[in-house]
Amino acid sequence: MSSSNTTLLVGGRIHTPSSPDATAMAVTDGIVVWVGQDGPGRALHPDAEVIDLDGALVAPAFVDAHVHATNTGLHLTGLDLTEVRDAADLLAAVRAAAEASAPEEVLIAHGWDETTWTDSRLPSRAELDDAAGAVPVYLSRVDAHSALVTSALVELAPDAVHAEGYSPDGPLTRDAHHLVRTAAHTAITAEQRERAQRAFLRAAAAAGIVSVHECAGPVISGEEDLRSLLQVAAEPGLPEVVPYWGALADTAALDLVRELGLRGLAGDLFVDGALGSHTAALCEPYADRPHTSGTRYLDRQAIADHLVACTEAGIQAGFHVIGDAAVTEVVEAFALAEKTLGQRALARLGHRLEHVEMITAEQATALARWNVTASMQPAFDAAWGGAHGMYATRLGPDRAAALNPFATLAAEGVPLAFGSDTPVTPLDPWGGVRAAVYHRTPGSGISARAAFNAHTRGGHRAAGVVDGVTGSLVPGAPAHYAVWEADDLVVAAPDARVQRWSTDPRSRVPGLPPLDPEATLPRCLRTVRAGQVIYDHTDGTGRAAPGTQARA
Ligand SMILES: [Zn+2]
Repeated sequence: MSSSNTTLLVGGRIHTPSSPDATAMAVTDGIVVWVGQDGPGRALHPDAEVIDLDGALVAPAFVDAHVHATNTGLHLTGLDLTEVRDAADLLAAVRAAAEASAPEEVLIAHGWDETTWTDSRLPSRAELDDAAGAVPVYLSRVDAHSALVTSALVELAPDAVHAEGYSPDGPLTRDAHHLVRTAAHTAITAEQRERAQRAFLRAAAAAGIVSVHECAGPVISGEEDLRSLLQVAAEPGLPEVVPYWGALADTAALDLVRELGLRGLAGDLFVDGALGSHTAALCEPYADRPHTSGTRYLDRQAIADHLVACTEAGIQAGFHVIGDAAVTEVVEAFALAEKTLGQRALARLGHRLEHVEMITAEQATALARWNVTASMQPAFDAAWGGAHGMYATRLGPDRAAALNPFATLAAEGVPLAFGSDTPVTPLDPWGGVRAAVYHRTPGSGISARAAFNAHTRGGHRAAGVVDGVTGSLVPGAPAHYAVWEADDLVVAAPDARVQRWSTDPRSRVPGLPPLDPEATLPRCLRTVRAGQVIYDHTDGTGRAAPGTQARA
C-alpha cells in the first residue's frame, strides 16, 4: 500500500451524475473526492494507490430496503424448497434432511409454492410426521406468511392449537403461524443463528449490496435474533445493517429503540398479511376464496397513535401493508395523525410503508404529501404478476393488473426504495431493477434510471439519510460502490449502432448496462463500503481481510 490514503480507480466506466464519460474515481478516507478521466486523475493524485478496472463498470452499491437476515441465512445454510414440484417431492426432501439432522435440532426450510407445482395438493400433517420422525419441522411458504409443520413443532408451541389460523392438517396461518415460527426460531442454537446471519451478510455483499434494512420484530424474528444480528454486523468487512423493529410504540419498544440504536419502529409491523396466504386485507373478497377478504391486524386509531408516538420520539414509523383495505386504513390513519401533528411534523421524519401493493393514485398523492417512502419489491411482480400469475388467481385479472403501480407512485412523487423481502425473493438487485422496468402490466413500470435510483439512493433516503449525496458517486459521498462485469453500456448519443444490444427504449439508459429480459445481468466483481472492500470475487471466502484495499 502506498503512503497515501487515496485510492485512484482508472480505466473503468464510472456511473456518476458528475460526468457521463468518467473513467476514473479517487477515494480518500472512505469518501469519493474526485470523478473524471484517467489522465487528469493520475495528474491530480500522484501519490494514490492506482487500481486498473480493466473496463469494468463502477456504480453506487445497492441497498436492499427490506430483508430478513436470519431466515435468509438459514435458507442459505439449510434446506431449499423452491425447486420441489409436488407433495411427494417435498416429503422426500424433508425425509432426507430429517435423517441427516440430530434429533434435538429444528429443521427449517423455506420456499414451497404450490401454485407452481404439477399437482397443488399439499402433504398432510400425518405424511409430514411420517417423513420427519421426531424432528420438529417448519416449512415456510414462499411468501413466508404460512407454513407446513410437523406435530413435533406444534408441541413446542402448544398455544398454536387454539390460535387463529390453526389447521390440524393444512398449513398454519396468522397467529398460529407466528407462534410456531417463533418456536422454531427460538429452538435454533445461538451458533446456528450467527452462522446464518454471517452467511446472509456475505451473500448480500456478493450481490453488490452495501446496506440492508433488517425488518425485525417480536413475532417475526425476536429480540435475541436482532441483538445477535447487530453483534455480527459490527464485525468488520460486512454490509451495513439498518435495523427496524415492527412493534407498536409502547414504552418497551421505545426503550429498545434507544438501547439498540434502532432506526425506527417500522418494517414488518403488520397491518395485514399477504396475498399468497389469503391474509392481505381486501375491500372485496378473494376471487379464489369468496368467503374471505383477508385479515387486518390494526385499525386506523392504533396506526395513527403509532405515527404520533414515533414522530414525537423523533424516529421513523412504518408498517407492512399490502391489501387495498389495509392501505386505505393506513392512509386514513395518516390523515388522523396529521390532525394531531400537522403536515410538516408528520412529513419531517420520512415514515415508510412496506410493500404497498394495492394503492390508488389519490392515495399515492396523499402519501407524497406526507413524505412517506414506499418500500417495494419489484421481484414480486416478476414472480406473481401477469395474466396467469398468483395475483390473478387470488384477485382476478382486473384487480391483479393494478398491483405494484411503480409508475403511478413515481408520478405522484412518492419516494421509492426497492428491496427483495428476502427470503421471499432472492438477493438480486439488478433483477429487481429489471423487474421494475419490465413490469408485467404495461404502463406500470418505471425507467431503468428511476429503478436503479430506487435501489441505491432511494434506499439510503428511506433509512433517513438525506444528505443528498449518499448513494451517488459524487465528491463528498461515502465510497459505497460495486464493480461489475457488464455488457456494453448504453451511451448517451442517440446512435442506433451503439445500441445494438437492444431495440427496447425502456432499457436505454446512459451509463447503465442493458437490462432487457434477454440481457445477461452484470456480475459483481467487488463491493466496497466506505472505501473498505466487503466482497471480492477473487477471494474464495467472498470477503477480504478487514482494512485491505482492493487490488486489480
Ligand atoms: Zn418482510
